[in-house]
Amino acid sequence: MGKKSIVTRYEKYSAFSGSPMECIHHLLFGKGIRKLADDDGIWIPLLDREHNMSPNGIKFQIHENPAAEKLSKIAGQLAWERKYLADKLASDENLGHQSSDDWMDEAREAFRQRYGESWL
Ligand SMILES: [Zn+2]
Repeated sequence: MGKKSIVTRYEKYSAFSGSPMECIHHLLFGKGIRKLADDDGIWIPLLDREHNMSPNGIKFQIHENPAAEKLSKIAGQLAWERKYLADKLASDENLGHQSSDDWMDEAREAFRQRYGESWL
């Protein structure tokens, strides 16, 4: 486990079921991406069966489930962009001088720069 999660404050409990966590899932994953997601705290706690070991087939887990994997990346990107903007808000006294659309575009571009692609 890397940095503290920026997605949830409840790091000891599965984000899906609320049961005591067994593993972590990096919402952003893939070649060269997981390490960045780890450094950035883009992960959620899960049970093994919710992650990649479901006894009932892939539709009950994230990995190998194409729709769940795509939504995972979208959620991870949104979490990253939210943190980017929250950090700006906490530090930049000029935040109000740009429209909210411009700020969201800036966050999107900053994400693209860091992760090399955008899922949104
Ligand atoms: Zn995973």
